[in-house]
Amino acid sequence: MLRKWIFVIGLCVSMLCCGCSEQTEASCAVDKTAVTNEDENEDEKVTRDFFAMDTYICLTAYGENGEAGIIAAENCIQDLDARLSTGNASSEIAQLNANGAGRLSEDTCVILQEALHLQKETNGAFNPLMYPIMQAWGFPTQEYRIPDDSELQKLLSLIKPENMQFSLETGTVSFSVSGMELDLGGIAKGYTSDAVMDCFCSSGVTSGMVSLGGNVQTIGTKPDGSLWRVAIRHPDKEKDFLGILETKDCAVITSGGYERYFEENGVRYHHIMDPATGKPADSDLLSVTIVSQNGLLADGLSTALFVMGLDKAISYWQAHASTFDAILYATDGTLYVTAGIQDDFSANYPCEIIQEGMQS
Ligand code: AMP
Ligand code: MG
Repeated sequence: MLRKWIFVIGLCVSMLCCGCSEQTEASCAVDKTAVTNEDENEDEKVTRDFFAMDTYICLTAYGENGEAGIIAAENCIQDLDARLSTGNASSEIAQLNANGAGRLSEDTCVILQEALHLQKETNGAFNPLMYPIMQAWGFPTQEYRIPDDSELQKLLSLIKPENMQFSLETGTVSFSVSGMELDLGGIAKGYTSDAVMDCFCSSGVTSGMVSLGGNVQTIGTKPDGSLWRVAIRHPDKEKDFLGILETKDCAVITSGGYERYFEENGVRYHHIMDPATGKPADSDLLSVTIVSQNGLLADGLSTALFVMGLDKAISYWQAHASTFDAILYATDGTLYVTAGIQDDFSANYPCEIIQEGMQS
């Protein structure tokens, strides 16, 4: 029953980046998914809502270990935020970016290692070195501008992974070209939601969830054994959903150009950049949701498949169908769902099922 749903994060619409001028509008809406939960276990439930990692975070854990799990998870999130934030001058990443060299902690090394792996796997669609380009467009400061082509050409020389030296053993990183900078924003929330699940697990929580600005990850089922119900936001209609996914032990992570953007002279410029051009990805997808047991992978791939666009995203899934599933919403209004979750996803709109053998 729709009326009975508790929208754990659905009301967390934030308008955080409103550096508006006459010509420029900016938006940063983050209610990408809502966990719908007819909650018959209120008394066993512990929740914590707070703001970190530039977004609203909601933790929920059930059972007698819930409080301990939530405390451990919140500490872990605050710790990762302090290390990974590009905007916090004392973070490991900001220090590395300021000095052109540095030593990273173990967690950060793992994220960087995975980010570089994804960069190769996605043929460069995912790139953890996009920060100079994000800055040129004004996303970190919300002082938005449109860089010209010659500026972008110069910046593209700063995002080449072969110009970064990284040792997983020692944690050391250095850049051989001045001006290079790391940005793990396309993958950090997924690593964090994996880490929350680890905190829950080691605290004895067997039923719980985290939402990081609408990126959801769950442990187990709901306490009554039923599946979590995650509603996927319609990218064009703030209060409407593409459908509802029933899931357990999975991350459900969405990327879309509607999440953070500015407009100038009627053109929308969003925050997911194409590393081939240095411009907002000219994607024929409006949103990409990845479902996987691996949160870090889901986060990296939601960004990468958005950059790839529909045909390449379908081919990529077909080559990696055992590791994730996807819900893709295209600019022409077509909704695509991969075969692995077709029985778990109740679509509100007509949808096409992508089969493993299907030609795009
Ligand atoms: P997400 O919301 O997970 O798609 O991540 C978007 C964020 O990742 C942006 O705000 C940037 O910090 C960063 N980013 C933008 N474009 C890329 C890209 N092509 N590859 C990796 N990270 C990116
Ligand atoms: Mg991502």
